[in-house]
Amino acid sequence: MKVVVLGAGVVGVTAAYQLMKDGHEVTVIDRQPLAANETSFGNAGMIAPGHSYTWASPKAPGILFRSLFQRDQALRLSLRADPQMWAWCLKFLRNCTAERARLNTLRKLKLCQYSQTVLKETVADTGIEYDRTTRGILYLYRDEASFKAGVEHMKILQDGGQEFHVLDFAGVIQVDPALKAARGKIHGGLHGPSDESGDCHKFTNALAEVCRNRGVTFRYETSISGFETEGDKVSAVAADKGPVKGDLFVLSLGSYSSFLARKLGIGLPIYPVKGYAVTIPIKDRDLAPRVPGIDENFLVGYTPMGDRIRMTATAEFSGYETNHSPADFRIPLGVAENLFPGAGDIPRASYWAGLRPMTPEGWPRIGPSRYHNFYMNTGQGHMGWTMSHGSARLLADLIGDRKTAIDASGFAAA
Ligand SMILES: Cc1cc2nc3c(=O)[nH]c(=O)nc-3n(C[C@H](O)[C@H](O)[C@H](O)COP(=O)(O)OP(=O)(O)OC[C@H]3O[C@@H](n4cnc5c(N)ncnc54)[C@H](O)[C@@H]3O)c2cc1C
Repeated sequence: MKVVVLGAGVVGVTAAYQLMKDGHEVTVIDRQPLAANETSFGNAGMIAPGHSYTWASPKAPGILFRSLFQRDQALRLSLRADPQMWAWCLKFLRNCTAERARLNTLRKLKLCQYSQTVLKETVADTGIEYDRTTRGILYLYRDEASFKAGVEHMKILQDGGQEFHVLDFAGVIQVDPALKAARGKIHGGLHGPSDESGDCHKFTNALAEVCRNRGVTFRYETSISGFETEGDKVSAVAADKGPVKGDLFVLSLGSYSSFLARKLGIGLPIYPVKGYAVTIPIKDRDLAPRVPGIDENFLVGYTPMGDRIRMTATAEFSGYETNHSPADFRIPLGVAENLFPGAGDIPRASYWAGLRPMTPEGWPRIGPSRYHNFYMNTGQGHMGWTMSHGSARLLADLIGDRKTAIDASGFAAA
C-alpha cells in the first residue's frame, strides 16, 4: 500500500520505519529541511516510563489557578482570548479526579513500557547511536515532605509493574556520584533503574536515514495546507509543491495536527504546551551528571547527552510561539549550578523552546478516523520520544489488521 506520513518528527519517522518494515511504500512529508526539527529537536531525551504520570490530577486545578498570578512558575497559564486553549483547559479539568488520574496514568504507563521494548528492537535492528544512557533516571526531592509524597505517588506506577528504588541521600550519590555537591540540598530520591535516555534529534535523523536507505521517500521543505477527498476517503494531501496522492494517510504533525484535522471536520483535543531547554557543553566530566534526573521540587530535568548536559523546564500555555528570553532559563540554569557546580560551560550554552502536543488526558490518539484511510498518530504530549516507538508499532498493526501487543482501543481517535 502507498502510505503517506504527514510529519517527520520522532512520531512520524518511527511510524514510517514500522510501516516500511511491514512492506508498505512510504512517503514522509515535512515543511522543515530535515527530520526532528521542531518539538523533537531539543527535548530532555528521557525514555521514562517511570515518569508516566498524567498532568491532569487532583492537585492540577490549584496549580493552574496559582499560575495565573505568579509568573516565575514551572507551570504558566496566562489569561488570553484563545477559545482553543480554554476548551482544552475545560477537558483537562474534567480529567482531574483521582480516579481519572489513576486510569490515565496507567494507560500512559502501558504504552511507555511497550514503547521501550519496541525501541530496543529498533536499536538492535539498526545499530543507531544516539548518546544513549541506560543507568536509569533519578527523581530527586529537596525536603522530607515532598519526598514522602513522591514515594506515595510512585505506588500508582509500581502497581503498573514499574520498578523503583527508594533512596536516602547516600543512596542517591551511589547511583550518581556527581551529585555529591548536592549534599544538604537533596533529601532523597527514587531511582527508576529501567528508565533510559538519548538524543531524540540524533536518533530520529539516523532512523530517517535508515528508512531512506530502505526505500522510504522524504519530501522536505513541503508545507501541507489541506486535503482532497472522495466520499469517505482522503485521496491526496494538498501541499505547496503540489498534491501528494496515496492509499492511506497518517497524521503526525505534532501540535499542528489539530489545525489540519479540522480541515476534514475532525476535532482533535491537542494544544501546544511550551517548554524550554538549555544545552550546556560539559567543561569538567567528573562534575557532570552520569545519570539523568528530575529535580521534582523545581520541575527541572537534566540529561547527560554525550559531551553536553541538557536542562529542561516549564509548561507554558501561550499559543504557538516558540520565542524565548534569558528569563525563561533562570530556573534550569540555577538548578544546573546548584546541583552540578562547575560542570558546564554556561557561556557556550544554546537555548531552545518547543511545543508539546498535549491532549487533556495525556495519552495520544492512534487509529483510524471517520475517513477510513486517514489514521491518527499524534498527541504524545510531554512523552513523545518515550511513546513514539510503541505508538508506531500499534499504528502499523492497526493498519495491517493484526492483533496489537497492547490494547489499542484506549487510544482511539473518536
Ligand atoms: C522542553 C521539552 C522537553 C521534553 N522532554 C521529553 C522527554 O524527556 N521525553 C519524552 O518522551 N518526550 C519529551 N518531550 C516531548 C517530545 O519532545 C514530543 O512529544 C515529541 O517531540 C513530539 O513529536 P511529534 O513528532 O509529534 O512532533 P514534532 O517533533 O513537532 O513533529 C511534527 C512535524 O510536523 C511538521 N509540520 C507541522 N505542520 C506542518 C505542515 N503544515 N506542513 C508540513 N509539515 C508540518 C513539523 O515540521 C514537524 O517536523 C519534551 C518536549 C519539550 C518541549
